[in-house]
Amino acid sequence: RPSVAGSIAIRADQKSYTYSQLLSSACNISRLLSSTNIKINNKGVSGHGNLGGARIGIVAKPSAEFVAGMLGTWLSGGVAVPLALSYPEAELLHVMNDSDISFVLSTEDYGETMQSIATRCAAQFSLIPPVSSTFSSPTMTDELQTGEIEADGSLIDENPALIVYTSGTTGKPKGVVHTHKSISAQVKMLVDAWEYTSTDHMYSADIIGEACFLADAVTTFFSAYAEIFFTLISLTRTIHVHGLFNALLAPLYAGSTVEFIPKFSVRHIWQRWRESYPKNGAKADDAITVFTGVPTMYARLIQGFQAMDPEQQVLSAYAAQQLRLMMSGSSALPQPVMHEWETITGHCLLERYGMTEFVMAISNPLRGARKAGTVGKPFPGVQVRIAEDKSGGGTIGEGELCVKSPSLFKEYWKLPQVTKESFTDDGFFKTGDACRVDEDGYYVILGRTSADIMKVGGYKLSALEIESVLLQHPDIAECCVFGLPDKDYGEAVSAIVVLDSEQKRKQEESNSAFSLEELCNWAKDKLAPYKLPTRLMLWDSLPRNAMGKVNKKELKRQLGNEK
Ligand code: ATP
Ligand code: MG
Repeated sequence: RPSVAGSIAIRADQKSYTYSQLLSSACNISRLLSSTNIKINNKGVSGHGNLGGARIGIVAKPSAEFVAGMLGTWLSGGVAVPLALSYPEAELLHVMNDSDISFVLSTEDYGETMQSIATRCAAQFSLIPPVSSTFSSPTMTDELQTGEIEADGSLIDENPALIVYTSGTTGKPKGVVHTHKSISAQVKMLVDAWEYTSTDHMYSADIIGEACFLADAVTTFFSAYAEIFFTLISLTRTIHVHGLFNALLAPLYAGSTVEFIPKFSVRHIWQRWRESYPKNGAKADDAITVFTGVPTMYARLIQGFQAMDPEQQVLSAYAAQQLRLMMSGSSALPQPVMHEWETITGHCLLERYGMTEFVMAISNPLRGARKAGTVGKPFPGVQVRIAEDKSGGGTIGEGELCVKSPSLFKEYWKLPQVTKESFTDDGFFKTGDACRVDEDGYYVILGRTSADIMKVGGYKLSALEIESVLLQHPDIAECCVFGLPDKDYGEAVSAIVVLDSEQKRKQEESNSAFSLEELCNWAKDKLAPYKLPTRLMLWDSLPRNAMGKVNKKELKRQLGNEK
């Protein structure tokens, strides 16, 4: 197998970093962490290595330094806690205190802020040195050989590696504990499913801590991880290192390049694609081959495309068409977005379903039919069960999705009761999402049982299904459907609608408002009568969290109380 030690692992801010540079940097960080007197707070963690499971907060934008910080933490037996910079300070403090962080690694740009926050959490602090400046550490392999950076492979697998916080859509973010084993299982699945190779160049946006980011970026981190250690192992023949990474190594030879987008920018992304594939059939050396994003990103990329002049549109559409794969996940992909994207770029977006708790479990195929409105089928090795709701009103085959997968998390951090309640007696994780299987065996996510499933006059309705229809209305830019208390029917189908800005302007000029009657007239041949909204609210925007999701439980609480 050709080595990728000298090839590009990470590209960020116009700079490229090789696999060797990344490894040197990870070893330096590991050494730094191991030499400090970290207060080991082992509550609930069985650890290994010098850090014995201490939590290391990593606060850096997506960068080579971020990856090095994570790998360095793992090398010395720490648990990486990636913290999103988009968190408000209070939330950052909450997460840092909740996970009992002993040490914070950050970069120059956030250094001052993070140092003061670390002090307030009684955590030590250090900057991650720029990766390129740590190139070629001559003693690194010696250290691996003498066991200074060492661990016992058999212990490591089950040890926690990562705590990622959920998006907090339904309540306070929960810390999800992943082990080396669950991460490597996930990585294997993704490398197999999406056929990553060393010729891939992945482009991913600024969404640290989000399952979609995790799955794709960690895949590539691990590819790096595996390849680097493979190279080193063959160099040094250190058996214990082989043991340590054996579980990770086998499938992880992809060795792709990952490029981070510092900040989501529609203009920048289209431009980067055009540079990758300038018309005439040419391909740049560093051309992007895979892109992944959340649905709102695609919606914005479409708006950006529509605003271009025709010549630019031709170049942009051609360039986007040349990528090998484009994926969407993290919330339901509205069908109009999917269809429009296909019209523009020829790409049928690959939609998949995941959660922080198991990263990814169900996906449309890389090869074969991708079905709009579905998230495809379970990955090989994933067991899925639909727990039918016996309370009546549902259609047979609909119910709560339960998942058993080698990529399942170990537990919710410091929430043993919640962990216990989240699993069935035979080890299936209860996702809290309702779903059904269609005639071809493809899974359809109907939404969260807690907020997206409405009970209206004896029927159980999926808010996601109604939203996807309303979004087809030419004047509607965004919408959110949920049930509000109703004395006759139990719940009333209620919709908050954000109008297209052009449409809004026209309506203001003519002093007329978009009405419920108008909406229902348009929708009546698309939705059964009992699914038509009976309440309509026109808002300027939807209250979305950092992940672009709407907390419907909170909305329901507020609006329900107002009634
Ligand atoms: P919290 O658990 O804190 O309330 P969250 O559930 O939004 O937040 P994540 O783990 O980031 O946190 O998101 C997982 C959820 O996202 C899933 O349970 C599901 O409801 C939704 N989701 C993910 N992918 C899809 C998809 N393709 N279609 C519909 N919903 C999806
Ligand atoms: Mg959740």
